[in-house]
This record gives sequence, C-alpha cells and structure tokens, in this order.
Amino acid sequence: MYTAQNSGARASTRSPSRSSSGSGSRPSTGGRLSSDGRRGGNSRQQPRGQQSRGQSRALRNKKFIHPSKFIRVATVTEKVDYVSENSFEDFSLNAKILANVIKKGYTNPSPIQDKTIPLAMEGKDVVGIANTGTGKTAAFVLPIIHDLIHNMDHQAIILAPTRELAQQIQEECIVFSRDCGIRTALLIGGASMNIQIRDLRRNPRIIIGTPGRTKDHLQQRNLNLSKISIAVLDEFDRMLDMGFIRDITSIFSGMPRDRQSLFFSATMEGEVEKQIRKFSRDPVTVSVRESVTVDSVNQDVIFYRERDEKIDKLHDLLISSGRGKTIIFDDTKHAVERLSRTLVARGFKADRIHGNKSQAQRSRAIKRLKDSDIDILVATDVAARGIDVSDISHVINYSQPNTYEDYVHRIGRTGRAGNTGNAFTFLQKE
Ligand code: AMP
Repeated sequence: MYTAQNSGARASTRSPSRSSSGSGSRPSTGGRLSSDGRRGGNSRQQPRGQQSRGQSRALRNKKFIHPSKFIRVATVTEKVDYVSENSFEDFSLNAKILANVIKKGYTNPSPIQDKTIPLAMEGKDVVGIANTGTGKTAAFVLPIIHDLIHNMDHQAIILAPTRELAQQIQEECIVFSRDCGIRTALLIGGASMNIQIRDLRRNPRIIIGTPGRTKDHLQQRNLNLSKISIAVLDEFDRMLDMGFIRDITSIFSGMPRDRQSLFFSATMEGEVEKQIRKFSRDPVTVSVRESVTVDSVNQDVIFYRERDEKIDKLHDLLISSGRGKTIIFDDTKHAVERLSRTLVARGFKADRIHGNKSQAQRSRAIKRLKDSDIDILVATDVAARGIDVSDISHVINYSQPNTYEDYVHRIGRTGRAGNTGNAFTFLQKE
C-alpha cells in the first residue's frame, strides 16, 4: 500500500548507484507534517543580496501551500470508457480530413471533441473547459481545416501560451490537413524571425503562435489579420497567468468582428470569464474537466535539512526501482541548469529545458525524452508546459510550485493514458 509513511523510494543496485553519505540510501519521505503553516522548501535561502534576480522573483511569487496537499494515494478506479454520442463520420467533416483522422488512429471522438466539434461546425463561439491531454487540439483543428477547405479566402489563427504547445498544435494541423493544400506558419520566440516572415508571405491558411511573437509580427506589419475567420485561444487561463492579455487584446483588435472564436481553458473563473466575454459573441460553454489526472497520481513529500542531503535524497529517488521517465521541476533557469549538470555528472541521462534555451534546443531535449535517449528532464514550469510525453512515471518538485494550480499542472505530466503516476515534492525541515 502506498502511504505517506512508507512510500520512500527504495534504493536499488541500478547504476548510477550512490555510496551512502550520511543521509542513508533511501529518502525519508512523508513523516508528520507540522501544521504551523510554514513553507518547507524555501524558508532557508541565501541572504537576499546573493539571490539572482530571477530567483528572488520566483520566490516572491510563491503562495503558501499546505504540505498535506502534496500527499495523496492514487485512487484506483475501474476505468469506464467514454461512450461518445457521435462518431467522427457524424461531424460531416470533409472526406480528406476524415481519412487523416482515421490514418492518425483515432476511432472515437474524445469527450471534448464529441461536444465541441458539432458546435464549432455550426459556426458558434465555444468555450471548452478541458485539461491538457483530453484531445482538445483536434477539437479545434478539425473544424478549422473544414472551414478553410470550403472557404478559400478564410484564414485561422491559434494562440497558445508556450512555444512547445504551439509547435505541437502545428504538428497536428499538418497531420490532419494532409492532401488538403493548407499551409501553416508558426510564430514563436527563440526561432528565426526571417523564416517566419518568409512563411507569412506564402499565404499560410493557419497561423499558430505565442502571443508575444505574433504581436511582434503584427507591429512590424508582417502579419495581416483581416481574413481571419476563426480565432482560437488555447490554454487561455494559462495565457492570462503569464501576463499575455495585452498582447492578445492587440492581436484581437486587428481581426474582423465577424469571426468565430474558440476558447480552451482548464478553469472558467473570474478574470478568464470576464476576458472571454470581451472576445466572444454569445459563446456556448462545454465542460469535460476531469480530475483524473490528480487522482491517478501517488503523491508524497520528501523532507531534507540542507542542500547536500537534498541532492542525495534526489539521487536515491532516481535510482529507486520502478522509476521510468521523470520530469524534475526547479524554480529558475539557473537552478535548472545547475541541477541538470549535477545529475549528468552523477551519471544520470538528463537534459534540461528553460527560457534561456533556443527553441531548437528545447525541442531536441523533449525529443530525447520521447525517444528514451534520456530519462530525466529538468525544467522550469513555463518550459514544461504542454509537454506531451505519455510514459512519464515520476514528476519531482525539487522546488515547490508557486501555486496549487501550478502543482496540478506539473503532476498532470504523469499518470496519463490510464497509468498511475508518482509525484514527489521536496520540503525543507525546520
Ligand atoms: P491533446 O489534449 O489534444 O494534447 O491530446 C492528448 C493526446 O490524446 C494526444 O496524444 C492525441 O493524439 C490523443 N488523442 C486526441 N484525440 C484522440 C482520439 N479521439 N482518439 C485517440 N487519441 C486521441
């Protein structure tokens, strides 16, 4: 049985092994939690003057999360297959799109596709409340391609919070529009502006971008949005969290009023709802939000006293039996860089992604994880957003997430596709 008391990872003889350095060969996890409301992981920091700017900003943004929220035993429920109301044939999609859907191996629509596609095909504005991993990409990509095939003067734009997510969306656009003669352009930071300008001149029918770079192209007049018939805001809640609202507002102000808008968000609270109202016309809201991601993840904490003990406990966890592909989260670019180097020096197959890496480097690191060339990816929150690797066994919060929502997003990288995942959060003991 997996409990907070006994879930410590067991050190195995697997390489890279570690000779015990005082803290024992197995991380002591769980234990009694103090209820004094103090945050574990960051209460002892370097003196202020020694903190890098990025680090102090990361720490300032932290909200207190009671440690008990990091402990949970996965609920093993019998998986009931969703019975969709529609088949893909029922959506009246163009035959070429349908052929591409079948080629991709989709047999039945996922719940968000089942509910959203009919509304989107009718031309309605839709708000889809859905987590990542629910199939929301095809829910908007399929109706877009259908519209573009049948209206040669139409163009679509899809905005997403991160480069990785934008890139994945472009890949799906390409797969589902095969043989339909539809070009795409990807407008993301960290990639060549000139290549993007060239792509924009080739009459792309679908523009996929992150808000910052898309606005740059708009301001430089490389981009004209007067033909946009459908606009999608994916992970809208996340884009608001990341401070993209001004960029989004200026991008939307360049589009025709007579357009269709589709929004996808994990929540529909406060600011999200207020902003969606500004950009939409009488939208229909559909919700398929599932908490299964959290329920299917065993969650536990690992206590440590000082830095040496912390890295040793991480090492023990990484050599424990049953660990597969792992994402380790840390606060800042520097912390991620440092931790990744330490792990490589200790013999682990690790790579890292953070905001200082070029897009090509970030994509390469994710591909290495997908291809099992490495089994550890160290990441900042933002860089890890949208990573779709189905067989992550462990998520390790080497630093605490800023908010509980961030925590849920982080651990949602594991426990996917019917698997049980494991999430560990490091907390500093007083
Ligand atoms: P998304 O939420 O769009 O990132 O999709 C999550 C994963 O589910 C991706 O790997 C998709 O390829 C896959 N997927 C989406 N829709 C379906 C479907 N109807 N049938 C099978 N797999 C799907």
